[in-house]
Amino acid sequence: MTQPIRIERTTNPKPRPKASELGFGKYFTDHMFILDYDAGLGWHDARIVPYQPITLDPAAKVFHYGQTIFEGLKAYRTEEGKIVLFRPDMNMKRLNRSNDRLSIPAVDEALGLEALRQLVQVDQDWIPDAPETSLYVRPFVISTEAALGVSPSLQYKFIIIMSPVGSYYSEGIKPVSIYVESDYVRAVAGGVGHVKTAGNYAAGLKAQEGATAQGCAQVLWLDGVHRKYVEEVGSMNVFFRLGDKIVTPALTGSLLPGITRDSVIHLLRHWGLEVEERLVTIDELVEAQKDGSLKEIFGTGTAAVISPVGSLYWKGEKLTIGNGSTGEVSARVYETMTGIQTGRLEDPFGWRV
Ligand code: PMP
Repeated sequence: MTQPIRIERTTNPKPRPKASELGFGKYFTDHMFILDYDAGLGWHDARIVPYQPITLDPAAKVFHYGQTIFEGLKAYRTEEGKIVLFRPDMNMKRLNRSNDRLSIPAVDEALGLEALRQLVQVDQDWIPDAPETSLYVRPFVISTEAALGVSPSLQYKFIIIMSPVGSYYSEGIKPVSIYVESDYVRAVAGGVGHVKTAGNYAAGLKAQEGATAQGCAQVLWLDGVHRKYVEEVGSMNVFFRLGDKIVTPALTGSLLPGITRDSVIHLLRHWGLEVEERLVTIDELVEAQKDGSLKEIFGTGTAAVISPVGSLYWKGEKLTIGNGSTGEVSARVYETMTGIQTGRLEDPFGWRV
């Protein structure tokens, strides 16, 4: 039996934003979940309370040494009015892998899943129902002990907040241009690139600024050691249609194992396509683009689900991928994944909860 979750409902619900104004992560629902940790006591006092600021000591370890992790997943309302989450068990497992890497005590996965379920239930009116909108769920852990010694915190908070988000592709799924980053790197094996910790994202902002200045939407990250193996695109995993195969970079320890990545691999194999998880060099991609065998590139992640790549900028050259528009595999994967997630299509894998 997991510990009970106390619920304190707001007496002052907020106005609901219009579907057209949602954007990503701008509005937050009426409630949040909080669970405290104290050394000796463990995780305790599970509660759903009105959404509110939290007060922290300026010496709280999270501000100084970045001992913090997060997750991201979405809840949808199906056409029959049911509320569904997509593979939330995978998020709880990854949350604890991140916790472990950052020396944060594990959260009871069953309690985390129950907290997700109850919080979504309490704020179910916040799940937008316009096409392709959803409720984005953001669980995270912060270290709260007020002490400046570099050592694992003796106190933490596990919090879940939620934000109604708009359609990522209000004008239909559209390819983006990508800047291949050869200066900055995102992560190295042995570091923290395989988990979701805040510093990875702070460290990526500089490269993103450079990509934006070049008129690109995102960067394509190369590995930090050899500076030639392709790893991820922005904060998404990446897939290539090379000849008659689909190839995605192997999980070498510096990539985040995306839940969308795992789902897309299953889906492609279910369709009978050959999927290889292996090392891919930027030179192999450039060569394949030149000989015409590089047919498609797409990113995968919770926020956009699928993001087709129309062009790569590399060494001053613009490489158009396929004919620069959304490829057929990208489009089919997008339709099927969003269909399974939102309940529009059958779920042969049992991913919906
Ligand atoms: N890579 C990084 C660095 C990410 O932040 C994310 C988003 N969580 C992903 C890949 C995609 O992961 P998922 O499919 O689980 O959203």
